[in-house]
Amino acid sequence: MQTMTRQMAKDIKLIGRFTEVWCAGHRHEGRQSLSVPGSDQPVQLCPECAEFFEYAVMKRQKCPLEAEKPSCKHCRIHCYAPQQRATVRQIMAWSGRRMLLRGRLDYLWHYFF
Ligand SMILES: [Zn+2]
Repeated sequence: MQTMTRQMAKDIKLIGRFTEVWCAGHRHEGRQSLSVPGSDQPVQLCPECAEFFEYAVMKRQKCPLEAEKPSCKHCRIHCYAPQQRATVRQIMAWSGRRMLLRGRLDYLWHYFF
């Protein structure tokens, strides 16, 4: 059983929230409640977004640079495969803008890409 750092839990929660906004905003079908590691608040995601989210969680938990990590945005590895990296950028840009428009500055993205 892997211990989760506070920063890890925070990053995972954040990406879960962004993916949820993206999924809901694009009216994806078949959304289901998915538990978020390190958080007691689940997210609602369609199967496709759930798959991406699980990938992101796995990558975050396996990060080899945990100790020196200031944020994924400035990471020297960029561990995502090209396809998932393109997906995360798309989700972050779209959901970030949407949250900004709604005044959700608390979710302003500092950590990924
Ligand atoms: Zn979706």
